[in-house]
Amino acid sequence: EHTNAAWHARRQAATPRGVGVFGDFFIDRAKNAEFWDIEGRHFIDFAGGIAVLNTGHVHPKVQAAITAQLQRFTHSCYQVVPYTEYVTLAERINAIVPIEGPAKTAFFSTGAEAVENAIKIARSSTGRSGVIAFGAAFHGRSLFAVSLTGKVQPYKAGFGPFPPEIYHVPFPCHCSSLEDTKKAMEQLFKCDIEPSRVAAIIFEPVQGEGGFNPIQQAAVQWLRQLCDQHGILLIADEVQTGFARTGKMFAMEHYGVKPDLITMAKSMAGGTTLSAVSGRQAVMDGPAPGGLGGTYAGHPLAIAAAHAVLDVMAEERLPERAQVLGDRLVAHLRAAQGRYSRIADVRGLGAMVACEFVDGQGHPDADATKRVQMAALRRGLLLLTCGVYGNVIRFLFPLTIEDHVFDKGLKILDEALTEALG
Ligand code: PMP
Repeated sequence: EHTNAAWHARRQAATPRGVGVFGDFFIDRAKNAEFWDIEGRHFIDFAGGIAVLNTGHVHPKVQAAITAQLQRFTHSCYQVVPYTEYVTLAERINAIVPIEGPAKTAFFSTGAEAVENAIKIARSSTGRSGVIAFGAAFHGRSLFAVSLTGKVQPYKAGFGPFPPEIYHVPFPCHCSSLEDTKKAMEQLFKCDIEPSRVAAIIFEPVQGEGGFNPIQQAAVQWLRQLCDQHGILLIADEVQTGFARTGKMFAMEHYGVKPDLITMAKSMAGGTTLSAVSGRQAVMDGPAPGGLGGTYAGHPLAIAAAHAVLDVMAEERLPERAQVLGDRLVAHLRAAQGRYSRIADVRGLGAMVACEFVDGQGHPDADATKRVQMAALRRGLLLLTCGVYGNVIRFLFPLTIEDHVFDKGLKILDEALTEALG
């Protein structure tokens, strides 16, 4: 029986619960910012496969690029027989990435893998071991990346012991002060590790899973100075913020500060599997030949897709489009905030926008957040939540979304807010 209910039961019987799944419906086909499930129900997609679809579902140019590559070859393993498109993609990324001086880029498959490799590169080029990350950070699910992640439930619980030499300090955003971060860092250097043994500090310019928390401008400058003072490498994890989402190709362009290494993935390849680490030439050349790579790292189909994504982002001016859509959404949410006191905060950078829900006492309200999400879903709008307390709705619609689809999404959002909070 080809129904959502039947497949839901088969899924539960055949796959482990650890692979948590939000939807109880199954996708059949998709186009730009819309998709249809196997029962023919229509959805507007404000989730974008968790920040992967900045160029939308099956963009014709991305589809054409993958199809063309499919006719030529699908795999040689880049480390065995290289292909020119890997090199030209590296050249294109190197030309736009906010890194000081000449950059180099290596490709991998997932965001977690990019993070793992950024740490390996940092350790090997500094000859140091320590890594500092932030509370509420999310860097992936592989064992080192999850160790860097600053949230125990559900990501770390039961998976330890974690590798040594990883430290967490509070993230300086809207909900905490830079002074607290500075104090924690001082304490760390006093009690746990001398700065000369720290290889890298890794941070998200806007924390994604942690609640769409933009880092304070002054904190980025302070981090750069701290790193320069102690010879520590600064790694910006742009897996979620990258590729036009925040109104620039990379979020770091907002801060006037350049990191030594940048990780990227998600929207760089239009829904195919590709990630990358870019960084200063000398740093990137730290590991010896053979130390970096992977059977599928820089897969030809994904590389072809990424070339098309870069073309589309330039041709359709997606960074500018992100700012326009983000501004419209923020204005819309601020108006809703006037009507519902449960909306405690509306924040974002470009189109990386979120709103936060609290209860009558001002405490994080995950239930109300879930009610809004489910009320929207019943009306055919897919929304994602995030945040340490699960009380944030984040918006990750394709930047290619048509105006009438975007407006329809906002209308459903209003109806959902009224039903859940009114
Ligand atoms: N870093 C950040 C900032 C992310 O948002 C994510 C994914 N949500 C990752 C790393 C991990 O990426 P992946 O799931 O592709 O391994």
